[in-house]
Amino acid sequence: VTVLPTDYIIQIFYTQCKRPVYKKHQGVYNGECPVCKEGASSGKKRRLFYFPQEHYLYCFNCSRSWSEINWIKEVTNKSFTEILKETTSYSTNSNPSILDILESTEVISTEIKTYDTLPENSIDITDSQQLQYFYSTTNNKSSIDKCIEYCEQRKLLAAINRPKAFYFSSDDRIHKNRLVIPFYSENNTIESYQTRALLPDQYPKYLTKYGEKNLFGENTIDSTIPYIFIFEGPIDAMFVRNGVAMGGTSLTSKQQTFLNKCLGYEIIYVLDNDKNNKETDKIKNRLMKQNKRIFIWPKEFNKYKDINEVCCQLNMTEFPYKYIVNNSFLGIEAIAKGCLHKN
Ligand SMILES: [Zn+2]
Repeated sequence: VTVLPTDYIIQIFYTQCKRPVYKKHQGVYNGECPVCKEGASSGKKRRLFYFPQEHYLYCFNCSRSWSEINWIKEVTNKSFTEILKETTSYSTNSNPSILDILESTEVISTEIKTYDTLPENSIDITDSQQLQYFYSTTNNKSSIDKCIEYCEQRKLLAAINRPKAFYFSSDDRIHKNRLVIPFYSENNTIESYQTRALLPDQYPKYLTKYGEKNLFGENTIDSTIPYIFIFEGPIDAMFVRNGVAMGGTSLTSKQQTFLNKCLGYEIIYVLDNDKNNKETDKIKNRLMKQNKRIFIWPKEFNKYKDINEVCCQLNMTEFPYKYIVNNSFLGIEAIAKGCLHKN
C-alpha cells in the first residue's frame, strides 16, 4: 500500500470538493462529493468524508468508498505515476504542513473564513500607495518583488483583458506569497480568486479559493463581440477580448448558470497547446464528443504552449479573437478534419 503525503490529499480534497470543512473533534474532512455531486441535496449537505487515520474516503450519498489513491485518480483523472510525481514536489521537511495549519486554527474550518473576498491582508500591487506602504512596513520584500517580476514577465499588467487589480498577501495561511488573480462577477465584485505559485517549490501551481467559482472575466464581456472564449486559466484569458476562464478543467454549475444567461454569444473553447499533457487531451476529447466549438492550434504555433506564451514571445498585449474564431471548429468537424489526432 502506497501512503501519500496527507497534506497532498487534503490539498486535493480542498480543491475538488465544494464547501470543504475540517471537523476538528472527529479529525475528519467533510465536503460535497465531486463524484456524485450529491444530487438533489447539492449545496445543502456534505456527505463525503475523508478519514486520514484510516486512509479512506466514503460518500453517504453515492455510498461509494475509495482508498486515497483511487479517489485522487478518479477526481483528477490523473494516473498513478502522475500522482506520485506530484507528491515528490511536496515538501516533507520542516515547513509546516497544511494539516498542521488546519489543525492549529479554527477559523479555516468555518464557512465565514471560507467566504472572505480575498486572502488575508491582501494588497493591490497595481496601487502604488499600497505598495509603498507595504514596502515601508514589511520584511518580506523579496516575495512581493517576485510577484511583480512575474506579472512583468508574463505581461499581465498590459494585457487587454486583465482584471482591474492583482493582489498579493504575505499573511494568508494558504495563499501567502502567491499572485492573487481576482474573479470578478458581472457586478464587478470579487466572487472568487485563483492564486499562482511564484517559486518552484511552492505547491500547487494554482490554488483556487474555497467554495464555488464563478468565471474569471464575467465583468469584461463586451456585447459588441458575439463570442465568449473559454480558457482553462485566467492568465491566457487576459489576452483575448471576451476571454473567460474556468480556473480548472471543467465548468462549475455557477459558471454554467452564468453562461446560460449569455444569450446570443457563441462559446468557443481555447485549450492549451500542450502536446504532452494528457489532461488537456482528455478535456479536448470530452468537448469534441459534446460537439463544442474548439480552437484548433494551427501548426505555425507548434512551439508555443499557450496564448500567454505566444503573447510574451511575440510581444503582444492582445491575441486577436478573430484568429481564434477563424481557426475553431465544432467537435464533429474537428474530428472529420483529423484535428484531434494531428499530434
Ligand atoms: Zn458521492
